[in-house]
Amino acid sequence: MSRAKRVIICGGGAIGVAIAYFLSRRGAAPVVIERHEVAGSASGKSGGFLAFDWCRGNPLDRLARRSFTVHAELADTLGNPWGFRRLETYGGYAVEGSDARGPGERPWLSEAVTITGRLGSRQTTALVEPRAFTQGLMAAAEQHGAELRHGTVTDLVRDKSGAARGVALEDGEIVEGDAVVIAMGPWSILATRWLPLPAVYGYKGHSLIFQTGEALPAEALFLEYQESSGEVLTPELFPRADGTTWVCAVSSTEPMPVDPARVLPDEGAHARLEAMCRAISPVLAAAPITARQACFRPVTDDGLPLIGAVPGVSGAYVATGHSVWGMLNAPATGEAMAELILDGAAGHVDLAPFAPGRLRALDPARLRQA
Ligand SMILES: Cc1cc2nc3c(=O)[nH]c(=O)nc-3n(C[C@H](O)[C@H](O)[C@H](O)COP(=O)(O)OP(=O)(O)OC[C@H]3O[C@@H](n4cnc5c(N)ncnc54)[C@H](O)[C@@H]3O)c2cc1C
Repeated sequence: MSRAKRVIICGGGAIGVAIAYFLSRRGAAPVVIERHEVAGSASGKSGGFLAFDWCRGNPLDRLARRSFTVHAELADTLGNPWGFRRLETYGGYAVEGSDARGPGERPWLSEAVTITGRLGSRQTTALVEPRAFTQGLMAAAEQHGAELRHGTVTDLVRDKSGAARGVALEDGEIVEGDAVVIAMGPWSILATRWLPLPAVYGYKGHSLIFQTGEALPAEALFLEYQESSGEVLTPELFPRADGTTWVCAVSSTEPMPVDPARVLPDEGAHARLEAMCRAISPVLAAAPITARQACFRPVTDDGLPLIGAVPGVSGAYVATGHSVWGMLNAPATGEAMAELILDGAAGHVDLAPFAPGRLRALDPARLRQA
């Protein structure tokens, strides 16, 4: 009997963990190496909003539809400890200072908010609590034989032919494997020092979590909010199954620290977000805030993820750059990567639009200058 294929996965975000889960279900032996903590970055701090058909007309469409379906199946199969819930989704706008203190057309919204239409139904939009999803999927992978290691990957290890055969950690340890997957989110740019990979950038977002209990219905909201300065924010409000409500707005292009544990909010960003929340909802104005968060989402030069084999280096793979849809697309990415690594090709989705070789590899000298 041949031994199980040992796959080293660098990064314990939703993408790395989903790959580990699907590999473990196929009898492989994945090892997730995480520098900070599983779900410690965007995969624990994001909105967790999922949409079936919001990528139509875009190369992501097939991946997104498949992933939405697999999300529902995973919640069913694994007992849903991450609060997967279907909800209605609406769009609207609000203007700061437009006498916005009384109740509006929904009791939890102020008069400042005008709802303009429905963007999604319970058939097409849903929500997960992203930290519980990512950690729950890692736990399920471990039950099927996956291993989780704490460590900072600092290099790729190759055999004489140049094929990937493991990784080196900061403490000098070598972790050997038959294949290596780079899934370090925006920190995947660090792997351009070891592999011919295109650039991945981190784009920062801020969010708040409110303890709202039963006060909000299962309705997600996408708004345009004009501040009195004239600046327009595009907040998203997601009431979760666990009685909290997640709200984000205020993006920035602040540089990303090399250590994921050192991500901090921009000065004033949360105060601005809190002022906006008070203006759009009397319930949020009164609710305790349980988390003030900042995180970086991974973005590529053409806005599409990198999912596939690294050209020219046998046994090396990458899965990152999922931008605003990383929580949605984690399951189908994990499934497709497991198929690619074990069968040689993805069965459910076409990975061609996401081929890492479509973008020019970053010259590592540019990284050293940055
Ligand atoms: C504010 C905000 C809201 C969002 N909302 C949504 C949403 O509603 N729906 C949706 O689908 N998507 C959303 N996203 C996008 C989604 O969160 C990301 O696309 C997704 O989390 C990316 O997952 P990842 O696993 O690629 O990266 P990450 O979550 O960043 O994970 C990468 C991991 O790699 C680890 N790492 C880094 N360097 C090393 C190293 N050298 N060695 C070992 N490990 C390392 C890090 O510690 C980290 O845990 C949002 C993003 C943001 C910022």
